[in-house]
Parts: sequence; C-alpha cells; structure tokens
Amino acid sequence: MKSHAKVVVIGGGVVGCSVLFHLARHGWTDVVLLERDELTSGSTWHAAGGMHTINGDPNVAKLQKYTISLYKEIEELSGQATGVHLTGGVLLAATEARLDWLRGVVSKGRYLGIDLEVISAKEAAELMPLIDPSQFVGAVRNKEDGHLDPSGVTHAYAKAARKLGAEVERFTKVEDIVRRPDGLWRVITNKGEVVTEHVVNAGGLWTREVGRMVGLELPVLAMEHMYLITEDMPEVADWNKKTGTEIIHAVDFDGELYLRQERGGMLMGTYEKANKVWSEFTTPWNFGHELLEPDIDRIAPSLEVGFRHFPAFQKTGIKQIINGPFTFAPDGNPLVGPVRGLPGFWVACGVMAGFSQGGGVGLALSNWMIEGDPGADIWAMDVARYGDWATMAYTNAKVRENYSRRFSIRFPNEELPAGRQLKTTPVYDLLSAKGAQWGVSFGLEVPLWYAPAGVKDEFSWRRSNDFAHIANEVAAVRGGVGLSEISNFAKYKVTGEGASAWLDRVLACKLPKPGRMTLAPMLKQDGKLIGDFTLANVGDGEWFIAGSGVAEQYHMRWFEAHLPKDGSVYIEALGQKLTGLAIAGPKAREVLAKASRADVSNAAFPFMAVARMDIGMAPCLVGRVSYTGDLGYEIWVAPEYQRAAFQALLAAGEEFSIGLFGSRALNALRLEKNYGSWAREYRPIYGPLEAGLDRFVAYGKDADFIGKAAALAERKGGGKLRLRSFIVDATDADVIGDEAIWHDGVVLGWVTSGGYAHNSRKSVALGYVPKEIADRPDGFEIEILGQRHAARIQAAPLFDANFERMRA
Ligand SMILES: Cc1cc2nc3c(=O)[nH]c(=O)nc-3n(C[C@H](O)[C@H](O)[C@H](O)COP(=O)(O)OP(=O)(O)OC[C@H]3O[C@@H](n4cnc5c(N)ncnc54)[C@H](O)[C@@H]3O)c2cc1C
Repeated sequence: MKSHAKVVVIGGGVVGCSVLFHLARHGWTDVVLLERDELTSGSTWHAAGGMHTINGDPNVAKLQKYTISLYKEIEELSGQATGVHLTGGVLLAATEARLDWLRGVVSKGRYLGIDLEVISAKEAAELMPLIDPSQFVGAVRNKEDGHLDPSGVTHAYAKAARKLGAEVERFTKVEDIVRRPDGLWRVITNKGEVVTEHVVNAGGLWTREVGRMVGLELPVLAMEHMYLITEDMPEVADWNKKTGTEIIHAVDFDGELYLRQERGGMLMGTYEKANKVWSEFTTPWNFGHELLEPDIDRIAPSLEVGFRHFPAFQKTGIKQIINGPFTFAPDGNPLVGPVRGLPGFWVACGVMAGFSQGGGVGLALSNWMIEGDPGADIWAMDVARYGDWATMAYTNAKVRENYSRRFSIRFPNEELPAGRQLKTTPVYDLLSAKGAQWGVSFGLEVPLWYAPAGVKDEFSWRRSNDFAHIANEVAAVRGGVGLSEISNFAKYKVTGEGASAWLDRVLACKLPKPGRMTLAPMLKQDGKLIGDFTLANVGDGEWFIAGSGVAEQYHMRWFEAHLPKDGSVYIEALGQKLTGLAIAGPKAREVLAKASRADVSNAAFPFMAVARMDIGMAPCLVGRVSYTGDLGYEIWVAPEYQRAAFQALLAAGEEFSIGLFGSRALNALRLEKNYGSWAREYRPIYGPLEAGLDRFVAYGKDADFIGKAAALAERKGGGKLRLRSFIVDATDADVIGDEAIWHDGVVLGWVTSGGYAHNSRKSVALGYVPKEIADRPDGFEIEILGQRHAARIQAAPLFDANFERMRA
C-alpha cells in the first residue's frame, strides 16, 4: 500500500468505487480506495439492482439520468459486464391524487429531457401484463427504467478506475483518521498508514463509524429492507416468448411496491409502514455478507395489496425473501460534499439508491474536489443542508418517517410530523395561541398561517382551506399593518479589522456606509450566484448579514473557506442567538414610532437605514426593509427579549388593527413584487444578470470580488436565461415549482416558485426562460397538473411598481 496519496476513498461499495472512478477520469490518479473486506461488503451486494431517473428534486433527477447513461461507458472501459437491462417501466396510480402527482412528474420531465408519458391503466396493462387495470386510474410510462447487476457495476467502476491509474486496496480497514498540524490527514489502517490531502467517507453502512473518527455525528441511519423473489411464473414465460422482451419495471405507489422480472419469476420489494431500524447506534464491524432474518408479517399488508394489484402473484410460490440494511439521511437524499470545519474531509454517504445516484454522486464530488465546484446544482444532496440540530434521535424519527412514506404523496401544503418541535423560539406559544400552523425550516418551527379554532390544513394539490385566511393576512398587511416572525433567517455577525476589505471581496455589492443596508449577491469564481443577502453596516466596524435560513451551514462553509488566514476577520452564525420579528404595511411606521422612543420618521430613518433602538423595553437592531415590498421593518432581537418586543409591537399596533401573518402570506406578498428567494429563484446555476440581481452587483468597484471577471463576461455576453414573472390563467390550482413553461407549443423553461398573489388577485409563477424569448409578449403557457394554462410575462411588479409605498 502506498504511504502517500492525494485522495483516500474509504469504502468499496458502489458509491466509493464511483468516486474513485470519477476522480481518475478527471485526471487525479494518485488516489487510493481502502476497503476493509472484498468490494461490495456493505449494502451493495444484496441490492435489488433497480435504477430509474425520477427524483423529487429535478437536479438530482438529472444526476440519476447521468448515472444510467454511464453504465455503457464503464462496461466498455473495464471489460466488466454490468448486467444492465433497460426495460423501461410504468409508474402506477391507484388514486386521482396520485395521478395529479404523476402529471407533475411528467411536467418536470419535459424540461429535464426525461421521456415520460401519461397513459391509461389499460395501456399500462398492455405494457406490463401482470397488472389488473381495474385497480388503477392511470400510469406514467418511463423509458429510462431498468435493472443491473450490483456487484458487476461496482467492479466495473473499480476496474475502470484502476485502468486509469487509481489503486484499490482490499482487506484494508481504516481504524482511525487524524488531522496533522500541517492540514494533511493520516488515514490509519490495519496495514499501515496513508497520508493524504483529501479523505472521502464512502463508508455506507459504517459511515457513522468513519465520521466519528473525526468527531462527526452524521445524520444517517440504516433500515431493514425486504424484497421477495417468486418461483418461475407461466405469465412471465408467455410474455417473454410472445414479445421477445422482459417484463418491464413497475412502481405501484399506492401498494408501496416495486416490481421487476428476475429470471423466470418476479422480484417484488416493499417500503412497509411498520418499518424497522437496523443497528441504531453503531454498525458491527463483523457484519458484511450476511442477510437479516426476513419478517413476512411486517410486509404482509403491502403484499396483500400487491397480490390484488398483480393477481398472478396469488398463484405463485415465494422462492426467497431478501432482507438487508441500507442507509438513509433524514430526507432520503444523499449527503455529499466537503464538511464544514474539516478542510479536506468529504462525505459521499446516505445514498439510498446507489444504482440510480452513485454515478452522479461520484461526478459531483470529483468536480468539487478538483475544480472547486460540483458542476451542477446539488443542493438537494449537499451535506450542508443539515446542521448540528440533526441529532441521532432526530435522524431516527425522520428516517423512519421517510422510509414509511417512500412512495407516499407529499402534498404541497403538507408538513410532516416527525422530528418536530425541535427548535422553537420564545414566542412559539404566543403564536400558537393565535392559531399559528407550523412548518419547519432548518429544524426551526416557522409559522405558516393562522387558523381559526378547529381549522387545519386540508392537504391538496389545489387551493385549499387556508386560501381565505391567507387572503385576510395579506389584506391586514396591505391595508394597515401586519406582524410576522422571521427568526428562520440566517444571521451572521462580521467583525475584525479586516472585515470591510473581506466583505468587499466575498460579496459582489458596493458596501453600505455606517447605518445603511444593501442587497448583497455573492458569486462563485464562475460568476454564478452562491448567496443572496441583506448586508447592514451597523457601525463601529460591526457588520450584520441576513440570509436564507436553510443555507446557514452552506454559507458558513463558503465564508470560512474564504476567510483570511491571519485572523483579521471574525464571522459568527448567530442561529437562534438572535431571533426576528417584522412589521409591514402602510401603518408600520406608526406602530414602530409608538413602540420605540427613536425617531423613525422617513427623514431620520429612511428606506435601507439600520439602527439600534429599543422596542418597548427590549434592545433591538432594526432595519428599514421588508420582503413584503411594503413600508416595513425587520427587527432583530436576542431571544430573551423577543417576547417583550413582540408584546410591545402588538400593543402599539392594536389601534391600527395589527394582524399576524405567516410565511404563506409573505409568499403571496413577495410574488406581487417579483422578489425571488434563495434555493428557489437564486441558485448556483444562475448568473446575476440571468436572475435579475445584476443591479446589485458593483461591477465597477475597485475590489476584485470573487466571480468578478465571470460576472463581467456574463454582462457582456448576456448569459443564457432570464428570470421572469408570469401571470397565469389558473383557476383552482397554482404553480408550486418545477412545472414546465411552454412557448409556442415547445417546453423552453421551468418554474422556480409561485402561488396566488391575493392582494392583486392573480396567480403568479416565477421561472427561467431562454433570454431570446424573455421579452415576448405572448405565446407562453404554464403546465399545472397536466393542463396548460395561458401565461403572460409581468415585467413591472403588480404592486407598488414605483416603490412609493416602500420608500414613503
Ligand atoms: C435489500 C436491498 C435492496 C436494495 N435495492 C436497491 C435497488 O434496487 N436500487 C438501488 O439503487 N439501490 C438499492 N439498494 C440500496 C443500495 O444497496 C445502496 O444505495 C448502496 O449499496 C449504497 O452503497 P454504498 O457504497 O454507499 O455503501 P455500502 O455498500 O455499504 O459500501 C460501504 C463499503 O465501505 C466499506 N467500509 C466501511 N467502513 C470502512 C472502513 N473503516 N475501512 C474500510 N472499508 C470500510 C464496507 O466494507 C463496504 O464495502 C438496496 C439495498 C438493500 C439492502
């Protein structure tokens, strides 16, 4: 074994082998994979080998498509058969709600280039002869579905990597990982030690153990999973003979089952409700090639549905039941990327669909390590989407929920109950008493809307029972004044003698003067967005930044990676050490004036001013800015004072009939101002010009900010896309995000978010289209639940286009 390597990959399952292959293909050949046993000694060897392109997140779906396209290449390169059978498949809907969901999947597929088609249940039964069509209301056909040989694929990755110069060391167990003072890592094994710049934890079932070697508790948990293989079935033999083809894959969402042909019989797997965690706290090192005891009672309810939906199973014996463990992150998507605070330590774990996702994970990770950027929008699988709040108990609750809901519908207004009330702010009970309906963001409870007693969300794809109540919340803001909680923002404090020079380099905006704020895009080297913040110069060398709450860990990783090494800049993510409230509406100033002793007149405290002031008795930092697009203020307050500030604002607002509003009303308000938000409109694949944030980029400032050259090139060349706001002729359902945008009968764009703008009484969609058509007056349609609706570009905001209210 070599004593030094540029990269050490730990784990020879499908994921580690893919990472090794991609590093080598990208030109890094001084790389070694360490496997404690034979390759495929974790989850990989007993997988059912199914693969598909569909994923809830379109960017992960793209990487799944890439993974499937890769198998031919690695087979040719390695000479190792992968056993790929691209049979195609059907996704079955037994209810109308499921069919609505599938229509959304098809719409998404249109702009992703995934060939999907809605078909009738009868047509599905013609493609997949075991189906009883009377059990279904419709289906979707997917041509890019199939299965493969899990061991063959893993060995093909490894052999291809070796041919390119990478090394694989089997029977080499990593026992410890130690960071040296010079930043290199010592990877200590039972056969000696390798010193390396980069370590990749692809430990699969032992990912937690490998993480613990460097003090990390990764939010990953293994679940038992069962599939059965039947005896040979005459129906299968007949079909094979008649058509000369295999039986295609089927996913029966309502039965929570997947099926495919296995030799002369069928394979049927389930995601059962009564699921079982495997090895909750530690994974035994002596586990590897054994299977777990099958428990047919646990999967019996799913099988019953399966036998009804696919009657041929009733007459066939079960040959074998496989029960094996594999790992999940709390939301079921992989955990990939560099770990904040551990330079050179990477993870590629929690991959629950290794044969659909392994290639994409390897590609993204190798790009990231070598080029400094994953080369794709991989937010949905970025390890930074979790923070310390994703504890072991939280992970247990969420993974179990996610497993049991693997094939369940999640409605756009549906909040999931597991792992809840983990982080709450001091006003939680006060807002609950007013009827707050809670959602969750980065582990924190967030008020969505306020319901009268006895009313709760009715889950639906269409406008639901919250509609009228949100309209009232919006009316309170636009007609007088509203109060909301905004503690879910990420908040950062920046200090130190080098702070302003550093901010000038990491942020693309012009730095504000003391007492002033500005909107602050942050760019990557390639000129694409990596953040969008409000930056406040609080004075006396102190800076305050507010940004997307879900991206706190993501942004801190970026900030810390770019801090000067001399200690001249200090940045802290304040988390819930600072909570937030906001007031907005034409009466907001009067409320603030009454609640505080400061002069908040327009002259003394104009738009984009920031100052410390007391609200009631509570010391606060107040900025005159509002995401509602109205006259408004964001108020930052230490948690011990939040209740006092809240009560003082409510008391001052009483005479103006102040109303509480939640994040759904805020969405309705920002839509009529064409305001985008991070992780929806603003993502690391769009340039500032494309996203309409170029007006906040100080292209001419002296500082050589990160991404400046690329941003100037984008401005000169015009970029490719444009973010646009559309008014949609929708009737009872609005866009959610990821719908296709059609122009003259062709899909050319995609929706990023939208909803109903109650004050303007318009259904609004924000989305990207090619710049060439971005100013066309007509020809647009947006697809909602399979129906195309006429849509028109709304260039000027529907509300306060001249900023009179906001600046008044
Ligand atoms: C019953 C079942 C059916 C499945 N069906 C499918 C399917 O149809 N399609 C699909 O895509 N996925 C399926 N999966 C999931 C799939 O198996 C996983 O997504 C995949 O195997 C994960 O691969 P991995 O490389 O991350 O982990 P693993 O396969 O667990 O590999 C980790 C490797 O790391 C090694 N290792 C760990 N720690 C160390 C250390 N300290 N030193 C050295 N080596 C170490 C282990 O020995 C192991 O070989 C199924 C899983 C099960 C259990």
